[in-house]
Amino acid sequence: MRLYDTLTRRKQELPPPPGPIRMYFCGPTVYQRIHIGNARPFVISMWLKRWLERSGYRATLVENITDINDKIYNAAPGRSAELAAQASHWYVEDTDRLGLGRPDHEPKASETVPGIVALIEELIARGLAYAAGGDVYYRVDRFSEYGALSGREGNDDSYRNPSEEEEQSSLKENPRDFALWKAHKEGEDTWWESPWGRGRPGWHIECSAMAEKLLGPAFEIHGGGLDLVFPHHENEIAQSRGAGREFARLWMHNGMLQLAGEKMSKSLGNIVSLQAAIERWGREAVILYFMTARWRAPMDLSDDVMEQARAEVETFRNVFRAPSEPHGDWRDFAAALDDDFNTPEALALLHRWRDHDQLRDALDLFGLASLAEDKPAPADVIQLAEQRRQARVRREYGESDALREAIEAQGWEVRDVEDGYQLVPK
Ligand SMILES: [Zn+2]
Repeated sequence: MRLYDTLTRRKQELPPPPGPIRMYFCGPTVYQRIHIGNARPFVISMWLKRWLERSGYRATLVENITDINDKIYNAAPGRSAELAAQASHWYVEDTDRLGLGRPDHEPKASETVPGIVALIEELIARGLAYAAGGDVYYRVDRFSEYGALSGREGNDDSYRNPSEEEEQSSLKENPRDFALWKAHKEGEDTWWESPWGRGRPGWHIECSAMAEKLLGPAFEIHGGGLDLVFPHHENEIAQSRGAGREFARLWMHNGMLQLAGEKMSKSLGNIVSLQAAIERWGREAVILYFMTARWRAPMDLSDDVMEQARAEVETFRNVFRAPSEPHGDWRDFAAALDDDFNTPEALALLHRWRDHDQLRDALDLFGLASLAEDKPAPADVIQLAEQRRQARVRREYGESDALREAIEAQGWEVRDVEDGYQLVPK
């Protein structure tokens, strides 16, 4: 299997099965319901884990939860810990609804502080970091590989780090340096004791320490959103490789989601939460939507593309309602996924398959086996549909529409077909 690697800028072959394939993906910073875009690395990493296991690999997936971060302190001054705990719960709840299972480990920064402190001490001992006024900074000039991942070196005008902008640059030897440890500030409700006084870790060192704690000093794949290449992942490399670890062998960065269409921004605001997306379009449509683009490509999010995904979901359901016919070659499907995990190509193949068992098996990899189940509607929904059918016979269309809405409120869609109606889960 080959995957595109950001560091070498080409596709790299994975070691042969059984591997192991150890993966670390950067999870969300928890201070609100996650955006549907934050779900993309979760979905891709869970699919990849399922495909690797299916291909005979031993795969371990670690996806962290960043629960100490400036964004959280800013979002809930004086009660950041409470917000982080609540938002961690939301994150697990919302991603659970995708039906893809969970990563093997989901470490929290707040539970990794001793490892973080030990790693910072090593960097100081190697001359790669220095304490200043209760903070500790990484000395970027001393790490010659800096910039290899992103092609940026941190000394131009484009150097911006949105979540770490509160760094007190007056304490830095060089503006390129970044914080590993931050002294406790008035009003911050969480802190930990350290050799440099009371404080808390910077964001980048959290991931270096959590990856090593659960996967060891070297692992096969590090992933995350394209927006994390610089400075977050560049800094992780500086920390971990600077401390003598091999660290990640391949870097996977997924493309970002872009909101498109005025209608969407009006109806849902500029932030579409995963929760809202699942409620509006259904779990299956959200998952199928992610399959329609290469994992590295940016994706537009609009009402139109989501409606299209919902229509494709229906197309698959209809295949299972029609008789099964032998069709399709699993090897083509496997070849598409083995070549840089090409889900749009795999999806196009599946749309041509008519063999129920084979199709269900393939859809199951993506969490879509439910499309094969024509689950019966509950009795009260059937009763509403029956009342609606009678209202239509009486040409009472107002009542018929009201009944349609009542049926939709219960999670079902009623469709008029030649000999009556059909109930389809939404
Ligand atoms: Zn990270």
